[in-house]
Amino acid sequence: MTSVPLLQPGTLYVVATPIGNLADLSERARQVLAAVDLIACEDTRHTQKLLQHLGLKKPLLSVHDHNERDRIEQVAEHLTNGRTMALVSDAGTPLISDPGYPLVQGLRQKQLTVTPIPGVSALITALSAAGLPTDRFAFEGFLPHKSGAKKERLENVAQESATLVFYESKHRILDTLSVMAEVFGEEREACVARELTKTFESFYHGTLPDILEQLQVDADQQKGEFVVMVAGNKNPQSNSAINIDKLFRLLLAELPPKKAAAIVAEVSGENKKELYQKALEIQGKV
Ligand code: SAM
Repeated sequence: MTSVPLLQPGTLYVVATPIGNLADLSERARQVLAAVDLIACEDTRHTQKLLQHLGLKKPLLSVHDHNERDRIEQVAEHLTNGRTMALVSDAGTPLISDPGYPLVQGLRQKQLTVTPIPGVSALITALSAAGLPTDRFAFEGFLPHKSGAKKERLENVAQESATLVFYESKHRILDTLSVMAEVFGEEREACVARELTKTFESFYHGTLPDILEQLQVDADQQKGEFVVMVAGNKNPQSNSAINIDKLFRLLLAELPPKKAAAIVAEVSGENKKELYQKALEIQGKV
């Protein structure tokens, strides 16, 4: 353990707050919130409640998606004058599917000091108890709401071999699980974490259709906040697609197009006629 002075003048502290259970606020986070001159927050009413719980009174500055860029100069001025500030979001770690990125980027560009005060984030909390591989994971945040864009985003990560982590709300959880089953396949293992650190914390395991069914049978299971984790693709197609292309070209150097197309069709499951057409194109015969 090293003993670091609690606050340095001219610093913005990015402070993680609980995602449900107030006891998860770290002692250092509490001390920093108590000591800073000003707290930048996503929703002043929400942060006011946390401060009340901690018995603190602090000036607040709202920083949300719509005014964040305009706040950079204001925050920079406070820090340049030697004041200390904290940045918090409504829950968990700021910047993680929450406001703060433009502000932190802007302050760093001005060579100002930004220091993290680590704590809870729903994605790490969920992964730590899900029982899916955690050696590699890709955090995908929230999916688009519109069905075409959602499907396209899922198709873009369908070949990913790392565990995929998504945030989802109660309004879209059923639809999202059903589109995931369609895009990733009905056999893909997954885990859904609901209401982490709260009274009704629950984990649902199984294939995507299994989990969908567990939520569908009981409307209460569709309430609250969700982290959806999907096991990575165990047989990613992208590598084999490259190999098949290579195989096709190697075969074409040795065999007539019809024979080469028939072999590749057998290996890849692709349409023989279309492959034959492709073979003619590769050989410059059409
Ligand atoms: N900054 C937060 C973090 O570090 O996790 C995330 C904020 S994001 C606006 C809110 C989303 O995080 C929710 O829609 C849900 O997907 C997830 N989340 C937050 N708290 C959660 C909880 N207690 N249980 C499950 N998911 C939660």
